[in-house]
Amino acid sequence: MEATHPREGVPDLAGQPKKRTPHAAQGDRRSHLRLKVSSLSPCPQCRNPKPAHQACPHCGTYRGRQVLTIKARKPKTATP
Ligand SMILES: [Zn+2]
Repeated sequence: MEATHPREGVPDLAGQPKKRTPHAAQGDRRSHLRLKVSSLSPCPQCRNPKPAHQACPHCGTYRGRQVLTIKARKPKTATP
């Protein structure tokens, strides 16, 4: 049996699956596919959690040096 192609007379060159994958097998295969929670470590300057090997977004320091200028955050205004 030959697989049909949407265009008439064009040979189907792509590999076709021998059997359909049941939903349970698909779920088993995808059981390892998930997003990892990024680990945060405390900043040595301000003790706020920050991503490793990156400047602290809170105080703007990296390895004891000031590398970012931190702007003061605007107070939130209530939306009508
Ligand atoms: Zn910090």
